[in-house]
Amino acid sequence: MKIFLNDSLVPEQDAVVSVFDHGFLYGDGIYETMRAYDGRVFMLERHIQRLQRSASLIQLRAPSPEYISAAIYRTIQENGLNSAYVRVTVSRGRGAIGLDPALCPEPTFVVIAEDFKEYPDKYYREGVKLVLAKTRRNLAGALDPRIKSLNFLNNILAKLEAKEQGAYEAIMLNAEDFLAEGTICNIFFLRDNTLCTPSVEAGVLDGITRELVISLAKQNGIPVNEGKFKVEALYGASEVFFTNTTSEVMPVSQVDTVRYAVGDITKKLRELYRAEVRQAAMTDL
Ligand code: PLP
Repeated sequence: MKIFLNDSLVPEQDAVVSVFDHGFLYGDGIYETMRAYDGRVFMLERHIQRLQRSASLIQLRAPSPEYISAAIYRTIQENGLNSAYVRVTVSRGRGAIGLDPALCPEPTFVVIAEDFKEYPDKYYREGVKLVLAKTRRNLAGALDPRIKSLNFLNNILAKLEAKEQGAYEAIMLNAEDFLAEGTICNIFFLRDNTLCTPSVEAGVLDGITRELVISLAKQNGIPVNEGKFKVEALYGASEVFFTNTTSEVMPVSQVDTVRYAVGDITKKLRELYRAEVRQAAMTDL
C-alpha cells in the first residue's frame, strides 16, 4: 500500500511520523473520513471544507483544497482502488515538547486510502444494537464537537461502554441530559411521522451524511425536527437509524432494552441516499 505523506507517495513501511509530532504527543490535529465509490470520493468538496473549518478552529495551517484533492486522487489511483475508505489527517507536525503550536514549523499531512470493507448486509436488513453511554459528549465550550480532531478519547470511552455491553455503538448525551450523537455517527429517530435529530446546538458534529439525509427527507415531504431531545423521546420512537460517511443510513434494532423494527422511512432514506451516490458516480470528475 502507498501512503501520501506530506508531499509524496511512499510505501506503507516508510510512512512514519516522528514521536515528537504534536499529533502523537497531544492529539493536536484534525482529520476527515471519506468514502470513494467507483474511484470517486462522494461529497469531496464538503469534506475538504469541513477539514478547513476544523483547521481554522485550531489555528492550524492545512494544505489548500486543490492540494488535498489532488493528493487524495493520487493515493486512490496509485493503490488501484475503486471502492475505498479514505482518511486525511493533518497534525500540528514535529516540534519540541511543549503545548505551543509555534514549536511546530510544518504540519504533517497524511492520506490513507484502502479497499472499502462493506458492512454485513445483515446490519442493513435487521439493524444494529446501540446503548446509551454514561460518558457524556464533550462540552462544546471545552472541546467543540464541530472540530473533527485527533482527540478521540471522549468517543473511545463511550465505545468501550458499547463493547462491554455487546452493542455495536453507543449514544452520548450532552452535559444537560439531551441526546447528542454516537461515537462516530449522528442519530435520527421517527416520532409522530417526524424525523427527529439532535441539533448542532446540542453539541454534535454536523455530519455530512446527516446534512444530506435531512435535505433528502425535506425534499420528499418528510417533516424534520432538529432539536433538543431527552432519551425518552428516542425510547418512544417508531424507527431509529444512524448516519455516517462509511455506514450511510444504518438501521438501529435496539437501544438499551427497547426494540425497533427497520421501518419504511429508514428504508426510503437509505434508498434515496444510495441514489445520490449513484448519481454522483455518473457525474464527470
Ligand atoms: N459524529 C461523529 C462524532 C463522527 O465522528 C462522525 C463521523 O466520523 C459523524 C458524526 C458523522 O459524520 P459524517 O456523516 O460527516 O461522516
